[in-house]
Amino acid sequence: MLSQNKNGGTEKKPKEVIFRIFRFDPNIDEKPYFQEFKLMAEPGLTVLYALFRIIEEQDSSLALRYSCRAGICGSDGMIINGKFRLACQTQVHELNSDVITISPLPGYPVIKDLVVDMSYFFEKLYSVDPFLQPDEEHLPEKEFIQYPKDFEKIEEPGRCILCGCCTAACPVAWTNPDYLGPAALLKAYRFVDDTRDTKRSERLKKLDHENSVWRCHTVFNCVEACPKNLHPTDAIQRLKRSIFVNRVKSIFKRT
Ligand code: SF4
Repeated sequence: MLSQNKNGGTEKKPKEVIFRIFRFDPNIDEKPYFQEFKLMAEPGLTVLYALFRIIEEQDSSLALRYSCRAGICGSDGMIINGKFRLACQTQVHELNSDVITISPLPGYPVIKDLVVDMSYFFEKLYSVDPFLQPDEEHLPEKEFIQYPKDFEKIEEPGRCILCGCCTAACPVAWTNPDYLGPAALLKAYRFVDDTRDTKRSERLKKLDHENSVWRCHTVFNCVEACPKNLHPTDAIQRLKRSIFVNRVKSIFKRT
């Protein structure tokens, strides 16, 4: 809703919004359902703060996960009006709708309402050794030196906040629980191409299996879902090339 301010410009006014929120408590409910809450949303109100107000003013049993409230921790990924979004980064007025439907990330078991069990997601992540493995015998006295052109390669994947939206959007991950998924593969790529890491070849060999990069069907759902505008599909394609080159190098080494 817009009104004219004293300078002749337009400004948004509070408006009533209906929140249709996914509810499911596996300990009580036979099946999930949507519950409606009405709220006056003032300009600037984020979906996360709207959910806080619903909890404080209308139903304290509503469960959600959040932490930093600033788009950094990745805890509050959810489906908001049909799109993967972070609740803390989504303003109610920017959705341009009087009805806002919110549901949890698909593809993960629901613990309660908007909270999903991400154990599977983190298991896959840990399996790619998501940490730097430098040359322990030649550690620098101060910091590791890295050239800007080398840092550029890992700058984008380094911005992943592990919200899980990409893996939740991936049809291969839905149907194959053994698939590593786009987030774990993006993280793997980030360390494979890190010039400070000494395990590049070992990492690539470890990634060369049927439930890794070769399982990606380049559907691009992960790219569309990512609230940080990252490109896991691109990282997966780069990993495929690196794995192939590594295979060829290994063959030549043996001969
Ligand atoms: Fe979230 Fe994007 Fe990282 Fe996937 S790649 S976990 S969608 S930030």
